[in-house]
Amino acid sequence: MKNISILGSTGSIGVNTLDVIARNPSRFKVVALAAGRNLPLLKEQIDKFEPDIVSVIDDEHAYQLREMLGHPAVPKILSGDGGYREVASWKKTDMVVSAIAGAAGLSPTIAAIDAGKDIALANKETMVMAGELVVAKAASRGVNIIPVDSEHNAIFQCLAGHNIKEVERLILTASGGPFLHLPLEQFAYIKLEDALRHPNWEMGRKITIDSASMMNKGLEVIEAGWLFGMDVGRIDVCVHPQSIVHSMVEYVDGSVIAQMGVPDMRGPISYALSYPERLQGAVDTLDLCSVGTLEFMSPDHTKFPALELAYEAAGRGGSAPAVLNASNEVAVDAFIEDKIGFGDIPLVIKEVLDSHRTKEIDTVEDVLDADCWGRIRAVEIVEKRKVS
Ligand code: MG
Repeated sequence: MKNISILGSTGSIGVNTLDVIARNPSRFKVVALAAGRNLPLLKEQIDKFEPDIVSVIDDEHAYQLREMLGHPAVPKILSGDGGYREVASWKKTDMVVSAIAGAAGLSPTIAAIDAGKDIALANKETMVMAGELVVAKAASRGVNIIPVDSEHNAIFQCLAGHNIKEVERLILTASGGPFLHLPLEQFAYIKLEDALRHPNWEMGRKITIDSASMMNKGLEVIEAGWLFGMDVGRIDVCVHPQSIVHSMVEYVDGSVIAQMGVPDMRGPISYALSYPERLQGAVDTLDLCSVGTLEFMSPDHTKFPALELAYEAAGRGGSAPAVLNASNEVAVDAFIEDKIGFGDIPLVIKEVLDSHRTKEIDTVEDVLDADCWGRIRAVEIVEKRKVS
């Protein structure tokens, strides 16, 4: 029996993880849950999975949850970053599913690593912001980090049983998002609901908008660099609208190994939870004959400049990726709140990066400083660009 803590249990990854666990009750047990503000769903999860402890975003929500549950002795109800860190390092936990969206996932993920827990990593921002620190900490604590992000999970599978020294390059596939075929002239008229319409994957808002701008793929390039110890110059992106090939590894002899499957996050989640074993019937069978055609094309950097900004930040190293991530989060929020247009998102990020002097990152505090600097600077730039 593997005991699981889930950070972000009411989000898309959290809900899918609980579905995998519910279907494999003899293998997995939920012992701790952390969520944000969705108390009705969290209450349902608590009733069904009976965790020892839970944490929510703040004291106010913790109070409301206690009321809803009738002030129970179990679960213990906590709040805020301290509560999230306790969920992440809960004594009975064997593996932590790290799925809190955005920079807020960093601190609890680090707490889990410090406590020696294996990580199923869905929160890519952790690696983007603090990859070097996280990889070093995980190595010193003997912690396994198994990627849940579908592309990285695919690469992890394509590398299994092979020598990493024989890898020529990693090829991340990208769906291209809803605007793959939209002419650039029409980008100015993109509305929030258009950006939230992802062709293949059901996901949260932030990541869906990141997919539409292709910043998601940029963040994934940086994430892959740290996860697999690969220079980003050897990580390429290939647009593949069907989302059947989840990513590929090219070896020095020219062989390319691809991992395929129907686009269903329960696939990578199952593999991360059960690794090195595989779960029977985790997702529907892939019928390539009925899929018919698989297309592959190069990304269009004019329409999607966010991808190159991510390569630039990765190349600069140090604080630059954390600043990239922070400014992206601010810009995406500003787009959601209708303060800026969709096409402004990469422009805000570029302006922030251009005005940033890269610093070295030695501690988590350095990461958080860079994150804070990037946010403040991005807010200033958003204010300047604001559509009135
Ligand atoms: Mg992904």
